[in-house]
Amino acid sequence: MANDRIGAHFKLKVRCFNCRVDTVHRLAVPAAEDAPECVDDLLESQFLRDQRFQCKACEAPIGVIVAAVEVKEPADA
Ligand SMILES: [Zn+2]
Repeated sequence: MANDRIGAHFKLKVRCFNCRVDTVHRLAVPAAEDAPECVDDLLESQFLRDQRFQCKACEAPIGVIVAAVEVKEPADA
């Protein structure tokens, strides 16, 4: 089994609280016993709370998640 210790990949759309610009973030969750494996788990997880957001346009540190999807086949970009 080719497991590189990454449990799940998510794509988040985050809207800046300040200037309302949407940005898309890729999130790779390490495989762990209590790691989130679906969007619902992710949204409630401490892992997500630990993520730092900074708006690329105005550098505001507050973002609101407007969409989250699980990505099955992460593209290496
Ligand atoms: Zn902003």
